[in-house]
Order: sequence, then structure tokens, then C-alpha cells
Amino acid sequence: MEHLSDRINSLPISATLAMASKARELKEKGVDVIGLSLGEPDFNTPDFIKNAAIQAVNDNYNSYSPVDGYKDLKLSISEKFKRDNNLNYESNQIVVSTGAKQSIANVCMVLLNPRDEVILPAPYWVSYSAIATLSQAKSVVISSSIDTDFKITPNQLEKAITPKTKMVIFNSPNNPSGSIYSESEYIQLAKVLEKYPDIYIISDEIYEHINYGKSVFSFASIPKMYNRTITVNGVAKAFAMTGWRIGYIGAPNWIAKACNKMQGQITSGANCIAQRATIAALNAPVDNIKYMVDEFKSRRELIMRLLGDIDGFRINKPSGAFYIFPDVSSYFGKIINGVKIKDSSDFSLFLLEIAHVATVSGEGFGNPNCIRISYAASKEQIKKACEQIKKSLTNN
Ligand code: PMP
Repeated sequence: MEHLSDRINSLPISATLAMASKARELKEKGVDVIGLSLGEPDFNTPDFIKNAAIQAVNDNYNSYSPVDGYKDLKLSISEKFKRDNNLNYESNQIVVSTGAKQSIANVCMVLLNPRDEVILPAPYWVSYSAIATLSQAKSVVISSSIDTDFKITPNQLEKAITPKTKMVIFNSPNNPSGSIYSESEYIQLAKVLEKYPDIYIISDEIYEHINYGKSVFSFASIPKMYNRTITVNGVAKAFAMTGWRIGYIGAPNWIAKACNKMQGQITSGANCIAQRATIAALNAPVDNIKYMVDEFKSRRELIMRLLGDIDGFRINKPSGAFYIFPDVSSYFGKIINGVKIKDSSDFSLFLLEIAHVATVSGEGFGNPNCIRISYAASKEQIKKACEQIKKSLTNN
């Protein structure tokens, strides 16, 4: 008999991890599955970062670091916020954590009370709603579609606000759509929030450097929003460092202090070697990672061209990140290759089982018309995947 807590029972299984595990099962049966379901750069961590880590090992960095991160790392983060985001955060406003995921979890845990509402503009990263649930809060989803570049309007935001709203989570460039909110779009949304001073904003900017021309604007750089915004970032995506697990926040001091207290009781701070390596990553000129961004950009062109060639796929040009989020609703209600497709979960499963391509259904991201395809894969894999998808849909 199981005696699990209500807390864990209330938590859904991550849609992206569930798909990865189904793909693994098929692979174990000998099927050659092309995995386009995970959000992970396929590059090696750059050598200058690896060398900093090796140096830290040899310099005997083996003790607990300060809970909120090494002082010199926080200085590098402060400089990075100035350089890239036009944001001033002092060291006492910065907390380094075990990945941006923990940064977000800390903030939610320290700000949310039971029954508070968290507004999630859809599509949203799957973990936001799970973390809100863990914090005993309720997610309120604002829908968007491919017709609005997957962005919400100020009017929609205003309508979603209730006396219980405590938080809004913005994510630009967005996972899964790749959309980027422009400065003027963010300013219009901020005008709505000005009227509600008790609402806090998380601005998740983890994909900021993976953008294809549109500049990325930080929500906290809007003067009236600065005192109510928590800026989240990390090294996982830009520096191909997913496994190193370093994320950080810049926030009002009282929120940073609370996150420090929370993390002091849960992890005692992030890994010391990864923190030392992060100093090298953040101090380096952003141009050092341009070769990865250029490669992602050319993969974006490739996947757009190949998917655009498949009947029934409606695609949007992603401005950043490394995902494409096609609307596949034209297939719903149809029978393809003898399989009835009701929704995007069926469609994604169909692609896995028939085309042997792993994608993720849009349902977990708050948009049931779409599927997420990651193009953080080699061009050969992308080409093969698109060919197999096309074939599976046309061979009726
Ligand atoms: N935010 C978004 C939008 C993400 O896509 C991810 C990773 N998938 C994270 C945060 C978490 O990043 P980290 O690996 O640093 O925990």
C-alpha cells in the first residue's frame, strides 16, 4: 500500500520526460528513434569553460560554497545583468541555484500561498504549472495561438487578473514557441500590471542569447516593474551546460534573502566546481558562443523549409530558442494509416510509433493544437526526421 503525500500525488509527470521515456522503450526494442523531444543543446561545453572547471578541481574547490553562491560569481552575474540586460542588481539581490528550475521553484515557494493564482501565458514551459501546484497555488492559463505569434495581449492579461492573482510568469524567448516579446509589447503588458501593485512577475530569460536577430528585452528594465520582477537566467542553454546545473536570479533584496533561506534548508547551495566554471562563461564575450547560435539559426531555416512542405502543418517562424511549435490541428478527427488522431497527444504518439520521431504534445504546454519539435539535433537527423514524418502522413 502506498502512502504518498497529496503534494506528490497532485503533481503530473513531466510531458517531455514521459515522451523521452516512451522513445527509450522503443529504442530498447531495436527501433531507430530520432529524438526531437528534449530541450538540450547537442554541442559540447566550450573548452574555456571546461578548463575553468578543471582549474577549480586542481585548486581544491571542494567545500560548501556560500548558500547563495560565491561572491565573485555574484559579481560576474551583476556585471552580466548590466552588460546584456541594462539591469542593476547588487550582490545581495542575486542568488545562484542548482539550475534555473530551482531558481523558479525557490521564488514560487517563497512567494506563493495556498490558493494564490499564478497567471501563465500559454504556451508555457511545462514546469511552471507543476511548480505552482507544488507551491499549492493555482495556475490560470491565458491562451494564445499561432495567429498571434503565440503571444498574449494586454486585454487578455487584464481579464485573467483576479483579487487572488499573486504572480505572472513571462518567458521570452519562449519554450515551446520560440516567440520573443518586443520592448513595446512588454511595456503594454506592464501598463496593465501597474494597476495591480501586489502582483509579482517572473521573467524567465534563459534563452536570451539564443535569438535570431530580434533583440531580447528584460521585463525588469521597465522602471515601474523593477521592484516587482524576479529575473531568472542560467547557463544551461546558451553555454551547452545543461548538466552543470547552474541558474540564478536577480530580484528585490527581500525576495533574494528568502530564496537564500529556502535553499539553505534544501540544497545548501549549488555545486562549487560548476559555479567556478560559470564565472568563466559569464565573463567571456557573448561572441564566444555565436557559432552555436549561428548553427541553430541555420537548422531553424532547414526545419521550417522541410516542415513547411508537409500538408497540414501550420508553422510559425520562431524568433529564438531551438524549438518549433507547429499547429497540427488539421489532422484531428482524421484516420491516418489506420490510426485515429483525436488530439495532439495522439498525433505526437503517432509520429513516435509510425515515423519513429519523438516530439512532445502541446497539451502540457497549454496549447492542445500544437506539438513541440526541438531542432537541437544534427541537420542529418532533422532531415531524416522530416522525411519520415512526411512519409508517415502521406502513405495512407
Ligand atoms: N526555463 C525554461 C523556459 C526552460 O526551457 C528550462 C529548461 N528546459 C529551464 C527554465 C530550466 O533550466 P535549468 O536547466 O537551468 O534548470
